[in-house]
Amino acid sequence: MGGWTKDGRHNATNIFEAAAWFRAIRPVCRCGHSATFNPYGIWWRFECKMWDGNLAKARHKFWCVRCGARTGKRVRPVRIDLVDPGPDDIALPMPDEREWKRALSRFRA
Ligand SMILES: [Zn+2]
Repeated sequence: MGGWTKDGRHNATNIFEAAAWFRAIRPVCRCGHSATFNPYGIWWRFECKMWDGNLAKARHKFWCVRCGARTGKRVRPVRIDLVDPGPDDIALPMPDEREWKRALSRFRA
């Protein structure tokens, strides 16, 4: 479980916590490119694919579109930032509300 940062914010260590605390997921590439994703859609993608949502490992599931277009390679982000959600965030298909509530109740138990 994540702790608290000095400014009192939750410090999520995995995708689910980020979604539970509504922090958008922002992979940052070494080229400077970044993209911000709505956390629920990302959580659901990971849940469906049974990927490890640990943020350190989740990094390997993202790749930079800009570097991809330039080099043809899947360049992994150097880090994942958690940021305030915004209206322009990329939204993947969202979980069924029931699924989300079930996951939340497991989390709080
Ligand atoms: Zn890049």
